[in-house]
Amino acid sequence: MDRRVRELLSALKVPWVYPEHAGRLSAIHQLLQLEPVAGVAFETGKAATREQLGRVHTSSYLDHVYDLRGQNAWLDVDTTAVSPGSVEAAEVAAGTTLAAVEAVMAGRSESAFALVRPPGHHAEPVRARGFCLYNNVAVAAAHARAELGCERVMIVDWDAHHANGTQDIFWADPNVMLFDIHRASPFYPGTGNLEDVGVGLGEGTTVNVPMPAGAGDQAYLKAFEEILIPAANWFQPDLILVSAGFDPHPFDLALNVSYEGFAVMTRMLQTLAHQHCGGRLVFVLEGGYHLLSLSRGVRTVLAVLAGEEAPTPGLIGVAEAKAAAAFHQQAFISDDPGSPT
Ligand SMILES: [Zn+2]
Repeated sequence: MDRRVRELLSALKVPWVYPEHAGRLSAIHQLLQLEPVAGVAFETGKAATREQLGRVHTSSYLDHVYDLRGQNAWLDVDTTAVSPGSVEAAEVAAGTTLAAVEAVMAGRSESAFALVRPPGHHAEPVRARGFCLYNNVAVAAAHARAELGCERVMIVDWDAHHANGTQDIFWADPNVMLFDIHRASPFYPGTGNLEDVGVGLGEGTTVNVPMPAGAGDQAYLKAFEEILIPAANWFQPDLILVSAGFDPHPFDLALNVSYEGFAVMTRMLQTLAHQHCGGRLVFVLEGGYHLLSLSRGVRTVLAVLAGEEAPTPGLIGVAEAKAAAAFHQQAFISDDPGSPT
């Protein structure tokens, strides 16, 4: 939300809450306590070092963010602000994503989900944007290549918003492929056109799939089947990272992907990871601001990762409609095939 809108709201005395807040993680934690997923183990994260962050952000940008420790400040006229503790939270978000990748690469777990905030995929090498300070998934991908022996990392971003930052960072990099399905420009941040495919050696390793408002499960699964799977088969990744935002769910108003849709996408990614990467698959939380769909969406992904069957999307209620049709079948059959009297 830009400064002008904030000014208008303050003049109108309409309360506005910064949508990216700690309650997001508490909601997820609470749901996972109420409805635990068998087979899921928790580990605490750690802070990323300056060296690790410096693989994808410039030194002057890191100086700028480090100077904001303990302060309240807007980073620009965009959506991103800090309060005391934000810089540390961002370091832990990046470091925890990296730790999740380390856990999977070390074989402690086949897959992992870094439950972190602030999100990262809008953060550019020199600029904070869209609630994001550090690009968590990019820091993890760069670490996997620099330290953990990965050669080709695939990043799949299904957040409703385009990953302008992740795209920028790996725009000319042939060793990191970004597949990004998102609501099309002019929806925030306005990037991610179909024709944007990378440059130089990286041409072809950026794959954008812009969607119209309201696009849902069938469109997403078609894009996964017909674009993502062939792209992954061509790229042959040895690690798959997923920038998982839950704002494509209808509760966040931009798109129409259901929990069943998230489950099937997860199952497809898990199959790809088994085919190419020895199962190595790491999710990292991006957006999702409606606490119910956010927490339920995360639990849905974890349940599939832990081995639960993924349902068939787009068929909710079909079995019930068939049963109801059978129940009512006799009601409207008359001996006289003419019109009702
Ligand atoms: Zn988003």
